Amino acid sequence: SAEGVRAALERLVRDVPDFPEPGIVFKDITPLLADHKAFSQVVEALAEMGRDESGAGVVDKVVGMEARGFILAAPVALALGAGFVPVRKAGKLPGETHAVSYALEYGEATLELHRDAVAPGERVLLVDDVLATGGTVAATRQLVEACGGVVVGVAVLMELGFLPGRETVGDLPLHALMTI
Ligand code: AMP
Repeated sequence: SAEGVRAALERLVRDVPDFPEPGIVFKDITPLLADHKAFSQVVEALAEMGRDESGAGVVDKVVGMEARGFILAAPVALALGAGFVPVRKAGKLPGETHAVSYALEYGEATLELHRDAVAPGERVLLVDDVLATGGTVAATRQLVEACGGVVVGVAVLMELGFLPGRETVGDLPLHALMTI
């Protein structure tokens, strides 16, 4: 149930103040990942976003963003009968890539996607642990669209409601298992 999932997140996601820098409260999901039942529950809840009313999977690819997005997106892809695709930080993917740079609070980040990882017209679900400013999701959407793919939704464990992530995500369906 949605209640059960929220309870698991409240119990097993640890707040780490001032990490990785002063003023940030880091949401540490490692206790959740270490709990088989809770991990299964959240994977199933995230996968719901990629199913129709009959329960059939409706996406071709599930994209996970480095690094914690990988851990969640891979089992979601298996649950949906879809392929898994990694979006990585600059310089990590060996093949031809699309790249998008975006502003961080301090400085800039670049994300990359293999050009052949998503085929034109494929339906894609984005999965990550935390939606903060939404910059990561927006950049990932651009990468998928550069391949000709269609992002049909975004599924995250937690949305930081005090940041403008939801506005940045804009018209895409966004499902957060919990809002902080
Ligand atoms: P943003 O691009 O600002 O939405 O940030 C999202 C990315 O940064 C995600 O990949 C998260 O894993 C990570 N992130 C941002 N804020 C936090 C936080 N408070 N705790 C854990 N991860 C975070």
